[in-house]
Amino acid sequence: MNKDDTRRYRRSLMAWYQREHRRLPWRDTDDPYAIWLSEVMLQQTQVQTVIPYFRHFRERFPTVQALAAANLQDVLKCWEGLGYYGRARNLHRAAGILATAVNGRIPDDVETFRKLPGVGPYIANAVLSIAFGRPLAVVDGNVKRVLSRLLLLEAPVNRPSDHPIYQGAADRLLDRQDPGAYNQAVMELGALICRPRSPRCAACPVQAVCGAFETGRTDALPVRVRPKPVPTIRTVTAVICRRGRMLVIRRPEEGLLGGLWVFPDGETKEKEHVVDTCRRVSLAETGLDVRINGYLATVRHAYTHFKVVTDVLACTANRGRVVLDGATAFQWMPPEGDPSLPFPGLHRKIMNRLSATGGCPRFEKLLKAI
Ligand code: SF4
Repeated sequence: MNKDDTRRYRRSLMAWYQREHRRLPWRDTDDPYAIWLSEVMLQQTQVQTVIPYFRHFRERFPTVQALAAANLQDVLKCWEGLGYYGRARNLHRAAGILATAVNGRIPDDVETFRKLPGVGPYIANAVLSIAFGRPLAVVDGNVKRVLSRLLLLEAPVNRPSDHPIYQGAADRLLDRQDPGAYNQAVMELGALICRPRSPRCAACPVQAVCGAFETGRTDALPVRVRPKPVPTIRTVTAVICRRGRMLVIRRPEEGLLGGLWVFPDGETKEKEHVVDTCRRVSLAETGLDVRINGYLATVRHAYTHFKVVTDVLACTANRGRVVLDGATAFQWMPPEGDPSLPFPGLHRKIMNRLSATGGCPRFEKLLKAI
């Protein structure tokens, strides 16, 4: 794109954004903390899903200091259902660092901000451009799609080694007069007009300078490499009962689902019977020897890099104390659940199956038999 076209592109895009952008709660504020929170929540998550979480989280933890002072369990509870819980743990840790180091002030330089947990190039560039007007271009999936079509870039948008090609293009096109609005405008264009399928070229403000439109290649771009197939893991989940209550444990803070509450579970070994897996997992994770009462359900859940299919078994704990291995806490939870405990998606699904007791009379019968 030559200089004249670049100027025309920026002018048309910015005018369109001022007219057409969606009114979203994080666009009504210049509070860097709120902008940061919104960008963290929006990673891998749809705008409509984020809106109620953003409002609730901000009411609950209105400042960096309030977030830093909260305990992790309450933070995860507010995040429950949004997924990718590492984002919440990192935000909480980052708030703790900022609250003690600089009185809650969010750094406005990229080197300092990037040192905080969970702050990668996208978050840094988005927050610092929108909140502080720093001339830093963002590159996410929407931006890559727009750039690929606009500039006829053939580099696969989902191949990490090609990311610098898109970052370089985004840097060149950035409007340095108003980088925050410009970054939001490109992302908005990708979300509303230059959609993955059936881009709305007739309504596009930058159609006059778009390479894909001019050459009839809007359907051929962007190029994507075929993603690796996602493996499926078979597990067993043990609903261990004692005196009508169910045992749940809290995962250690580091690692997958860190800080969240789960039923004891574990991967099934090759050729191992689910009953044996259930006994082995129960003993290893809780120190309890269990008697298997019956099968409750098979529950499926998809994570980013794998899928889980778990067989849920009801068991009774024989005598003995709970001795945890790795987990940091346990509770004997009533069958209707405990609203203060944050559960990840898979275990929330299991909870729902169990507590929709109209829907699980067999489980009730099993509980009564215990
Ligand atoms: Fe996307 Fe079409 Fe606009 Fe080009 S003209 S940027 S393909 S919507």
